[in-house]
This record gives sequence, structure tokens and C-alpha cells, in this order.
Amino acid sequence: MTDLDIGRAWLVDPTVAREGPGEIVVRDGILEAVTWLEREEADGIDAGGVVVAPGFIDLHAHLREPGNEDAETVASGLAAAAHGGFTTVCAMPNTTPTLDEPGVLARIRTAAAASGSPVELLAHGAVSTGRDGETLAALGELADAGVVGFSDDGAPVRSASILRNALAYAGALGLPIVDHPEDPTLTDGAEANEGFVSTVLGLRGWPTAAEEAAVGRDLAILADVVRDVPGARLHLTHLSTAAALELVRRAKAAGLPVTCDVTPHHLALSDEWIAGARRFAWEAGEEGDPWRDDALVAAPYGSSLRVNPPLRTPADALACLAALADGTADAIATDHAPHTEVDKMVEFGEAANGISGIETALGLVLEAVDAGHLTLSRAIEALTAGPAAILGRRSRRNGSVGLVEGALADLVVFDRAERWMVSADRLASRGKNSPLIGLDLPGRVLVTIAGGQVAYEADLVTAR
Ligand SMILES: [Zn+2]
Repeated sequence: MTDLDIGRAWLVDPTVAREGPGEIVVRDGILEAVTWLEREEADGIDAGGVVVAPGFIDLHAHLREPGNEDAETVASGLAAAAHGGFTTVCAMPNTTPTLDEPGVLARIRTAAAASGSPVELLAHGAVSTGRDGETLAALGELADAGVVGFSDDGAPVRSASILRNALAYAGALGLPIVDHPEDPTLTDGAEANEGFVSTVLGLRGWPTAAEEAAVGRDLAILADVVRDVPGARLHLTHLSTAAALELVRRAKAAGLPVTCDVTPHHLALSDEWIAGARRFAWEAGEEGDPWRDDALVAAPYGSSLRVNPPLRTPADALACLAALADGTADAIATDHAPHTEVDKMVEFGEAANGISGIETALGLVLEAVDAGHLTLSRAIEALTAGPAAILGRRSRRNGSVGLVEGALADLVVFDRAERWMVSADRLASRGKNSPLIGLDLPGRVLVTIAGGQVAYEADLVTAR
């Protein structure tokens, strides 16, 4: 159990809607004191320096164990999470074998315990057996074993009828269905967002309608189910298009129990990057034409940019930011998707989908904050209280997601003024598939404390 004194920092606690200068003291793993300073005592402390926030919660991470330990293990995934400031991680069930029965959950829990990492591992169970989209998995048994939701992620819940049953059954169990919204009949062979960039590069287009059609289907089924099962809950993960977010905005206004998340890469990057641009979405303007204004600085077709859903236009990224700002999007989830080099060292359209992103999430989000598209407190909320609300009380060992005196310390300390260069060596993840390698990101994580124990400390890594 750990001791830590952070004097003169900027504290952010979204659970009480408070941020400001302050100090914290951790003794024996307990957050013993949280002291908010008066403005006159706080000269020189501002939101641009060292920040203390509750530990981040990732609703969506692929840890690859069991089945693809070359890409990631539970241990390396939890180490990567801690390096990114995350103290709670929800593993996705698209492992081999699929997490569709309690035995697989027990395996990854054993791996987490063996890793010695204090980062809390949660897991979603599969909706269908083997994620085949045809047979409902034993949701009740999985719930009893402690899964926090159900998802066939990697793919959508294929059958509308299975989705309907799953929403009803999981709703009765008090758990959400986490759907990856994609109509696969519209994305067969698709390589990049359908639009100007895909046309010029000759990549097969991935229409935004594939996401919007799936969101529409899911919402229609939810509206139907919720009449009989008031506890039914739908969570749409990694929304990436303006129109899909608008559908959720309207559904929420109509009172449907739907939540959604967006990823750091869909907030900050765009399909321009596939052409070789390296500017953030808000720097591109609405057009997103990297040929017109000389934005091209890198080689095109970098396979680390191949992701599902694909990087969209700058306008879509701005819509994701706006949705986060107005509460349409409830959370930021990383969709951390580590892959081996072998699975990425191929033609763009053949490369595995995904970005190893849990360690660069904070940096990308802070870039959006620095650019004025998000407040720091909303960004932190979307990484903490937002996902916790989706998970319900299962989110934290200490029962709180705020900076609460007397609770087990669960927090991250990062320095917004300190930039770090993303490199394969500095990523704790086995997946080095990041388009950000070689770039500087703000907000170096100094310390992550999970469940009262140090999960990550900056100096240890620098010395390695
Ligand atoms: Zn997905």
C-alpha cells in the first residue's frame, strides 16, 4: 500500500462538478486528505500543469488473452492501461475461445491476479455463443460470474431477433448490451471511410450509412423491448459519424435508455491521415482535403490507421467532439486494439483493424482540450464518471469514482505541460500499432494509483 503527497496541483472531481487548485495526501493506500485551496493560496497553480483526477475507466479494451498473446496479454494490457492513467478496464469478449461462459472469465481473472497489477479488470461477456450471432449465450450464468455487460464486439449483434432477446434478458439482469453498430452488408471489403480521400486513394469505401443503419435498427428494437422490460439498456460503442450521433441525441431526448461512447482516435484524427496528413481533425477544416492545402507530410496507406469503424472526415470528428461536449456521448472508450506486426505489415485493405490506443488516449483528448473543443472537466468526466454510470456500481472497488477522503485511492496524476514522444519502446502494450508513433503528446502520466497501490510511476519507465 502506497504513500503519496501531491501539493499544489489542479484537482478535478467530476462527481462533485469541481475543479481547482488543491493538495492530496495518500497514506497506506487511503486517500487521507483532499484539500481545495482558496484562490489566494493558489498563486501559480493552474489547469495547465500537474492535474490530479480519479483513475480512468475504459469501457472497451481488447486484451487478446486467451488466444492471441502475441498481440497482448492481460498482464501487458493492464500495464498499458496503467501507463495511460486507467485504473479500471473492461475487456472485450472476442478472445479465443470467446468469453461466452464463466470459465473464460475465470481464466482472465487468474491472469490478472498473476500479473500483480492493481488495475481492476472487468469484462463483457459475449451476446451469442462463439459470437456466431445465432445462439444467445448463457447470459444469466455470465451475469452471476460477474460480467458487466454483453457484446459481440468485433462485429455487431448480427441477428435483430437475437438482439431483441438479449436486450430483454440482459435488461432483466440489470446489464447493458454493448453493440458495435455496423451493417456488414454495407461494409463487405470496405477499406476506408467512403468519401473524397477513399476515392482519390482508390480504397474501397466504407459508408457512414453502415453505422447509421445499425444504430437505427438498434434503437427501434430498444424502443420495442423497453415497453415490456423497463430495465433494458443499450450502449452503442465507438460511434463515429455525425448522423449516428444525431440519432442517439434524438433517442435520448425521447427518453430511450441508450448511452454511447466515442474513441480518442475518432475525436482527434480523420481519414486525411490515410493520405499522409498529420494534423488534428479541428485543424483540417470542414473540407478535409489534404491535397488542396499541402497537409501531406507522411507516406500514405499506413496500416496502423486501418480501424473499425474507419477514421471519418474532419466534420465527423468535430461532431464526435460536439456530442461529447453536449452529453450525447456519455464516455470516451479507447477501443484499445493491439495487433502483432505481422497482422499489420500488409496492404492497407488486408491489415487487421485496430489501434493500440490505451496509452495515447489521454494525450489525444488533451489535444482536443488545448484546441478549445472540450473542457478539461468534461474530458475527465467522460473518462471517469461517464463510464462509471454506464457500468453502475460495479465500477469501483471503493464504491466511488470521485476524489473521496477516506476511500481507497484510485487516481491519476499527469502533467499537461510535459509532452512525451510516442515510441514502440515506451508503449507497455505488446501492440505497437499506433499511428501516433513518432509524435509528441501532452499530458505525461506521472503516477497511476489503482485500488490503493501504485500501478504506474513515470520514473520507473524512463529508467527502463
Ligand atoms: Zn467494435
